[in-house]
Amino acid sequence: MKKFAIFLLVFISCFTLSSCKKKDNLEELSANLSTYSMQIELNTQEKRAEVKQTLNYINNSDAILRVLKFHVYPQFFKEGAVDKVVGPTKMNDAYPNGMSYASFDFSAVMVNNESVDIVFSGENNGILEVELPYSLMPNKSINLQFNYSLTLPNAEHRFGYGENTINMANFYPIACVYENGQFNTEPYNANGDPFYSDMANYNVNLNINKNYVVAATGELVAKTEDAEGMRYEYKANMVRDFAIVASNKFEVISAQAGDTTVNYFYFNDDNKDANLKAGVDAINTFNKLFGTYPYKTFNIVKTDFIYGGMEYPNLIMISADILDADDYKNVIVHETAHQWWYGMVGNNEYSLPWLDEALTEYSSMLFYDYNEGYNFTHGQMIAASKENYTLFISVYNDVLGEIDTSMRAVNEYSTEPEYTYCIYVKGVLMYESLYQIIGEKNFVNSLKFYFDNFKYKNATKENLIYAFETTSKTELKNFFDSWLNGKVVIK
Ligand SMILES: [Zn+2]
Repeated sequence: MKKFAIFLLVFISCFTLSSCKKKDNLEELSANLSTYSMQIELNTQEKRAEVKQTLNYINNSDAILRVLKFHVYPQFFKEGAVDKVVGPTKMNDAYPNGMSYASFDFSAVMVNNESVDIVFSGENNGILEVELPYSLMPNKSINLQFNYSLTLPNAEHRFGYGENTINMANFYPIACVYENGQFNTEPYNANGDPFYSDMANYNVNLNINKNYVVAATGELVAKTEDAEGMRYEYKANMVRDFAIVASNKFEVISAQAGDTTVNYFYFNDDNKDANLKAGVDAINTFNKLFGTYPYKTFNIVKTDFIYGGMEYPNLIMISADILDADDYKNVIVHETAHQWWYGMVGNNEYSLPWLDEALTEYSSMLFYDYNEGYNFTHGQMIAASKENYTLFISVYNDVLGEIDTSMRAVNEYSTEPEYTYCIYVKGVLMYESLYQIIGEKNFVNSLKFYFDNFKYKNATKENLIYAFETTSKTELKNFFDSWLNGKVVIK
């Protein structure tokens, strides 16, 4: 009975809030953002792409810029560097047909139509530096062009291809975030999703063999066929990245969640309707709990991918390796929650992976409080997390004598399990403890506050604590610090 009463209260208050608030107009809000435009010719036979990319870069910092820096993540998928994209225990799964490497070569880099010299720096030359011909003042823009060709590795990864899908994510030069007087140039890492970017606009045209079906970030504004193949035209306003998955095996089913059309791209799936429903239920639930998803399209995409799933704006990859039907739906719910935590409220996923990941994982647990008919409950999942975490700690203590359980940057974990247990499992236990301290109403209202104040921005640990402290009127800095620093003992 109590649960039902809480259920009504939360939903009535959300309904009241959402009915008097206007939906965000992304076209208007994104007017002063940088715009990426791409013409992509994707050769599905050779798994090779020719890309002409232009970028109207707007200096939204208050600094005068003489150089711009870009992440070129495919550099880490090249020969000699792949130990940075997959941990040693996952190599065989990622490369089932043996080692395979990417290529990535620029044929031209231009600024305002003039060729410029380029310099690579950082680990594996993962950073491209472009010197500007003049100082770029705050609020001023400059045009860059990058022409390049790339070959995808035969790797079941976010950048690669498997038996069923071609995954083109993190494939293009993307501007590094400028903050605290410098560009943020943290490299790729095998742990987690080591990305950090600003909101931007995208116009992407993709030419591809007509037997292929394409899922991508943004809205499909045109699809035309000619003798050469199929041309897909996408437009995405106010997103922090752009991803594409293509397959000649895809079938698509769709349903509506609020103003958002949810599409499920799948192959070999006996549970397709239930999987689509999980995505629809997740969008509906998080719309009410956190704030409205403002995008028209959301794509759930079954993908050849070694990890459970992966989030991109308007597109989530769900691994075809997940055979358990409940686990598959649970990953859909988790990755959908990332649309709020990472997609809209951004953060540095390299140095603060817990900020989006722990909240996303806990959001899945909240989901089960509001959705019946799933074979998981919030309580069961917390109990399982606690059991798994204490077992992990005791095994690590036996083997190593001690363990650092702090929630730190992705590169500071020496193994993948250590990363997973400290960020996801311990992260969930941290939020459960907070939920118990401040109560459900304050907890949910804090997340609404956090979303409303930091959506479309990059949030920090301080922003998150501010949201919880302001809403619950409780001092929580010490609470977060003791969990984050590894001082809390869980028994
Ligand atoms: Zn995640």
